[in-house]
Amino acid sequence: MESLIAIDSPKPEKRKLKKRFKVLLCVLIFFLIILMIRGLVKFYNYVVEEELASIKDVQVGNQTLINENTKLDCMKKIKENYSVQKANIIQLKKQIPVSEKQYNNIMNIYENSSDKKIVYLTFDDGPSENITPLILDLLKQENIKVTFFLLGSNTELYPQIVQREYSEGHFLANHGYSHKYSQIYQNPETILNDFQQCEQSIKKALNNENYTSKIYRFPGGSTGGRFHDIKAQGKELLKENHIAYLDWNALTCDAEGTPTHESILENLEKTVGNKQTVVLLMHDSSSKILTYETLPEVIAFFRERGYTFRTLYDVL
Ligand SMILES: [Zn+2]
Repeated sequence: MESLIAIDSPKPEKRKLKKRFKVLLCVLIFFLIILMIRGLVKFYNYVVEEELASIKDVQVGNQTLINENTKLDCMKKIKENYSVQKANIIQLKKQIPVSEKQYNNIMNIYENSSDKKIVYLTFDDGPSENITPLILDLLKQENIKVTFFLLGSNTELYPQIVQREYSEGHFLANHGYSHKYSQIYQNPETILNDFQQCEQSIKKALNNENYTSKIYRFPGGSTGGRFHDIKAQGKELLKENHIAYLDWNALTCDAEGTPTHESILENLEKTVGNKQTVVLLMHDSSSKILTYETLPEVIAFFRERGYTFRTLYDVL
């Protein structure tokens, strides 16, 4: 048996040789892999270099870079351009009128769980050449910021007044373009169109394509009347387009019938009542001299009752 085993087993020298051969083979394969990797890296660098060398003109935004610039400069400019593109994307994101949270904030504006009494003074149908500047002077004097629901047609007429409203910290919201019910309330799309048209006027007046007012006020209010159903559908369409809307819960009736100094203050007291949060409807169109004249008393009314003046900036 012992002799048989000795015959079948490879000789010790042969085994040693086999082992050395295996080790050598492994080392060889290892070096081959290293060489291959280095080759691939060199090839990749070569391709990139060729690509850069082949650049004649690099278009970066509106600028054209000539290839005499160093490659480093090219890459720097491309990087800068990338940052600009990134900033533009952020700006575009900002242009989406309202987020879901902001939409809900507007829709739940009257849900005030704090002890604080809040009033939002709002002026519709402006700007006008004669009344709006007077109101702005008074608000400046009283140090109060308000919300203007602008009419697109008037915004086009008096862009400088809109710019003043904006620069003095008032909120610019959207009251549509024409204020003509028969045009606006044909169908939900004409309501959205009314918003968009006014929006374009505001952007143009402010010379700011990124401005978005976020909030629409339905001419005549968002409910009731013969257009009630169309308005309800319009609300849905506005929501789909991330646009909020806001009515009011108090008014001076300064645009109804023939208001007097007394009727304005009476309506104010009657409609404000004990409300914790008030959105007061007033108007700054050209015939509303009485609105301007009674404004100091309206302001005093809220101050005496401990209200804080807010704008829609505080809700969004
Ligand atoms: Zn109106």
